Amino acid sequence: MNIILFGPPGAGKGTQSDFLVSKFQLFKLSTGDLLRNEISKKTELGKKIENIVNTGKLVSNDIIDSLIESVVSNPQYLNKIIFDGYPRNLEQAQSLDKLLKKFNQKIHLVLSLEVSLQSVIKRITGRAICKKCGKIYNEFFNPPPANTDCCKGDNLQKRKDDNEKVVTSRYETYQNLTEPILKHYEGSGIVKKLDGNLEIKQIMGQISKYIEGLRG
Ligand code: AMP
Repeated sequence: MNIILFGPPGAGKGTQSDFLVSKFQLFKLSTGDLLRNEISKKTELGKKIENIVNTGKLVSNDIIDSLIESVVSNPQYLNKIIFDGYPRNLEQAQSLDKLLKKFNQKIHLVLSLEVSLQSVIKRITGRAICKKCGKIYNEFFNPPPANTDCCKGDNLQKRKDDNEKVVTSRYETYQNLTEPILKHYEGSGIVKKLDGNLEIKQIMGQISKYIEGLRG
């Protein structure tokens, strides 16, 4: 099953997709993670996009297309992909349609996590990611366990684009460019909207039901 997870920054896409990966043996394709990886490895691409990502603007569609194709074309991930943070605009949605067709795949479920700008700002200021294991936490709502050897101290890092100014601009970009493409998928009846303000576990439960329903 291929799933797209939509939602503004801080909606919980990363947390929910990590959960889906382990529960349903799926593969997470987060364009944001792929781009941040290029930046931390200081590759040519990383140097080119660093400023764009840190200021919350969108990276060009050509760059994103090439990252996506290498995953969608890999038989290991056939019909097992969760798209997190992609597509971000109509052109990317159209490219994805073409790519899926080329590799005999389709999107089975589109999940949209809906959260207000006020909640997003609160969440983003508390967000921390463990650089060792990749787990995402929030110091207010979802802190790391007290007895961890891994997710503590210097291992817990903030994203450079997780500040109020950049998040507000990313939220606006989401509303203007990304949210409208939900319409692109609505005709096929595969879009499910979820209240992203609910507790993480409640959202996980709702998403699991949708997936189990589709699996039959
Ligand atoms: P995310 O981790 O999804 O919040 O993305 C972080 C940043 O990476 C975004 O603010 C953009 O600068 C860039 N980015 C991630 N995914 C895309 C995409 N599909 N298209 C363009 N830029 C992206």
